[in-house]
Amino acid sequence: MSDCIFCQIIAGDIPSTKVYEDDEFLAFEDVSPEAPVHTLIVPKKHYHSLNDDIPADVLGRLYKLVPYVAELKGVHDSGYRTVANTGDDANQTVHHLHVHIIGGKQLSEHSS
Ligand code: AMP
Repeated sequence: MSDCIFCQIIAGDIPSTKVYEDDEFLAFEDVSPEAPVHTLIVPKKHYHSLNDDIPADVLGRLYKLVPYVAELKGVHDSGYRTVANTGDDANQTVHHLHVHIIGGKQLSEHSS
């Protein structure tokens, strides 16, 4: 989608700091990090959110990438939080499915 920020990052039209890339997914640093490690993983194909009709194998590969990217970022063993905000009440601001990987410090007990 041409008006989607993450599609523009995937296309290389908006710069990003890449952490990982393959044919199907891209991981890049969040521009406004909430913690020392704050990386986003996105499918290259545009889905608005988890509410879309996403094939289970795509979701499976996406979430299998999480510990790998966590390893790349050095938080695999120390721990990290994954977040996939969906819709208005969750304050989803970019309507392209993405998983946040947040870590590198002791996080608050609850995220609400
Ligand atoms: P969400 O609120 O779950 O939709 O998260 C969207 C995330 O995308 C936020 O944490 C933003 O800081 C991040 N973000 C927005 N624009 C960019 C960008 N150009 N490069 C990297 N991260 C971005």
